[in-house]
Amino acid sequence: MAKVIIGTSALPEADAGHMKDAGIGWLRHGFPYPFVERPGGELSERYVKAREGAVRRNSQGLQLMGVTPGLGIGTMQQDERGNYHLAWRDHYPTWMGRPATPEFLRSYREMCAFLADNLKGLVQMWQIANELEIPQFAGPLNMRQACELVIEAARGLKGTDPELIVGTNTGGSTRSYYLYGRLYADPSAPLDYCGVDQYYGTWQAGGPDTWRERLQELWDLTGLPVLINEWGYSSAGGVAPPEERDSRAPICQTHRWRNAWGEGHSPEVQAEYVRVAHDVFCEKRGILLGAFFYRWEDQAVCWQCGRADCPVETAWGLVDVQGNPKPAFHAFKEGVRRLQSCWESERE
Ligand SMILES: [Zn+2]
Repeated sequence: MAKVIIGTSALPEADAGHMKDAGIGWLRHGFPYPFVERPGGELSERYVKAREGAVRRNSQGLQLMGVTPGLGIGTMQQDERGNYHLAWRDHYPTWMGRPATPEFLRSYREMCAFLADNLKGLVQMWQIANELEIPQFAGPLNMRQACELVIEAARGLKGTDPELIVGTNTGGSTRSYYLYGRLYADPSAPLDYCGVDQYYGTWQAGGPDTWRERLQELWDLTGLPVLINEWGYSSAGGVAPPEERDSRAPICQTHRWRNAWGEGHSPEVQAEYVRVAHDVFCEKRGILLGAFFYRWEDQAVCWQCGRADCPVETAWGLVDVQGNPKPAFHAFKEGVRRLQSCWESERE
């Protein structure tokens, strides 16, 4: 019997038994560009390592949602006056060609065909790149170019293995409506799900209840089951006073969120958030393909700015840096149990 897909993002060394105990059956697993010098040539060391990781996770009983490589990443760099700015770094190899050219699109499609073939049986589902409407992940691509990339990638994956579950995610910003409108109105785009990342109460206003209308909206717009590729609630960080909320200063600089749910950002509120979210997921199970919690473990340093005292990317976990359960771990485990049982009762 098909179950709702429950997944997370985790470090390579994260304890599989502990994650499965929480009800997690899937991991998000990123892959780098596979070749060193030319398509079909020698495999890169990083790719070989990622493939070995996939074999290991499968042998531990975890299924995988692969993430195809992005063009690069934007991180927060501090200038001499102490202000943080987004700085973009390319990550694509020269054999791909230049982004947004026919050559790049062809290379990307062929690379995706290789991934589908080389990882057949190891990776059951794909997320194409990541949040391509957010400058931090899209880099040089505008929205139209980003959509062309997604369609070519999907053709490469599905053309090689039609059994794969393929889609992409957005960061849920206003710009994402272009992507949803463009991709899901195109009958030649072979996409199986509508993906979305949202952090209601932390990055965005709202709370776990906001998922109710959001899931319905995306289903109504696209007619496809919705996959939540990322959701969660930060258990740390202050809340900005009203006069600071309109400021455009990055949170890596202020260390205060512009949004909060309930009593703010604490491990206890995070647990309650997780509990309520699963109630909403139960209610919307008919249009929900699955949900990947962001993320399994707290992080020692913020990947955006590199600081250990920054709350931005350090406190999203169900377990702490040492792997000890936070209150949200127990709420998650119980929430997934409820969700799977309401899912099954529907199908009886
Ligand atoms: Zn930071």
